[in-house]
Amino acid sequence: MAALRILYASSEAHPIMKTGGLADVSGALPSAINQLGHDVRLIMPAYPNSLDHLSDVKEIVELDLMGAEKSLKIIQGQLKIANLTVYLIDYPEFFDRPGSPYINQNGEDWADNAQRFALFSRAVSVISLGLANLDWTPELVHCNDWQTGLIPALLSLQSERPATLFTVHNLAYQGLFDRATFEDLKLPNVFWSADGLEFFDKMSYLKSGLVYSDKLSTVSPTYKEQICTSEYGCGMEGILSKRIDDLHGILNGIDYSTWNPGSDPLISKLYSSSNVTLNKLDNKKELQRYFGLPLGGNTPLIGLVGRLVEQKGIDLLLAAMPELMKLNVQIVLLGSGNKEFETALKRQQKKHIKKIGLKLAYDERLAHLIEAGSDMFLMPSRFEPCGLNQMYSLRYGTIPIVRKTGGLADTVINVSKERLENETATGFVFKQLQTDSLLKTIKRALNLYTNRSEWRKLMRRAMLVDNSWEKRAQQYVDLYQLTIKKNSANSK
Ligand code: ADP
Repeated sequence: MAALRILYASSEAHPIMKTGGLADVSGALPSAINQLGHDVRLIMPAYPNSLDHLSDVKEIVELDLMGAEKSLKIIQGQLKIANLTVYLIDYPEFFDRPGSPYINQNGEDWADNAQRFALFSRAVSVISLGLANLDWTPELVHCNDWQTGLIPALLSLQSERPATLFTVHNLAYQGLFDRATFEDLKLPNVFWSADGLEFFDKMSYLKSGLVYSDKLSTVSPTYKEQICTSEYGCGMEGILSKRIDDLHGILNGIDYSTWNPGSDPLISKLYSSSNVTLNKLDNKKELQRYFGLPLGGNTPLIGLVGRLVEQKGIDLLLAAMPELMKLNVQIVLLGSGNKEFETALKRQQKKHIKKIGLKLAYDERLAHLIEAGSDMFLMPSRFEPCGLNQMYSLRYGTIPIVRKTGGLADTVINVSKERLENETATGFVFKQLQTDSLLKTIKRALNLYTNRSEWRKLMRRAMLVDNSWEKRAQQYVDLYQLTIKKNSANSK
């Protein structure tokens, strides 16, 4: 098979910029596909310090685009930690800002997000049409989430264009802007329609991606089914159901070089499935020390890392806390987000200083130590497109306790007597979004934890589950081919 030329557009990619799972995927999937002999290149905005992660950096082109008062630069480099060519869209007025790419220090969206990501999308479109004087053009542009949603729309105006695939990593973030912004961006009027990017009198960048791309995908088979329903569709279920034949559900993988307890430089003691019991205990003690919790191996320790938002079921955990704190258990939490959740968690931590460890921050190193040092990992999500932490947990022998939704339902096999006997169980799963179900499930886990030999077997089995990108990258290649075929059939 000839090597495919793919331009992978994303607003974040590990290790250059990360706020969540999208970065993990964008940092790992392109190189996993390159390993299969293809030519995937990543394109993203140039944030502060982005260049630190690249070698062979050169400024290749300057472009004048609508929406930018000055020329923007395209910088090309090689990602230092992987075999991947990266293009950075360098426009400091929009992207050279501290902190998150989406929100300011007060937690509000940057007021010019529409302009910022419209410019990024315009730059990607011009490059992929071969109009930027690069010595390379893609056959397909792989767009990810609302920040890239205008790309398929802009490309749809051309008769000769690369194919477009739009992947939904989280349908809840829609890039909604008002009509005046639409006018201000000088987007073609044909886009303002119910069959275009108009969404209840607003403009939705996400909808733009859903409507104008040749094919669509999302990050787990269960989420694919869910987003076609009114319960999970966030208003987009109609479009998605209409395009069901174009919609694919491909489970995310995890980057085995970054998330590997056998070689992880961010944990205190390396381990594998053959020495997990002893060496994991060292990490647990380090974690307890870090949070000032009583040291010891016998008290089960539950970890949680994530954005502190409603999606992640933080309210459910808070409601369960009084009952949970009566049990012999320690909990460590790392995250930031909603101020009310942060305050409520702080209050709980002050009340139960010997049982709860809390860090309200973004801390990559600590996230790894929590995966390595916890016995169990909690994800009581309201919805979860795929979820990565449960897969990291499996890999680290940290037994996931998850709600049966989205990718969590696809990656964790619930413990039952039968599944312990036939050695298929990998974690604990609950269905109902209710405090009682959560508590019951945590108690089930704590109970099995006292059966040391059964728990050891469970840890080893979890560690051997294959969630590598290698396996899943091929599914993207197959989808790329289908998408390219559809585009070339349409342009004939
Ligand atoms: P989402 O994309 O919805 O945030 P995922 O589970 O797909 O959730 O991915 C979240 C990623 O972000 C994981 O790699 C997780 O470890 C990381 N992460 C989230 N919050 C933090 C934090 N406060 N500190 C460090 N890493 C974090």
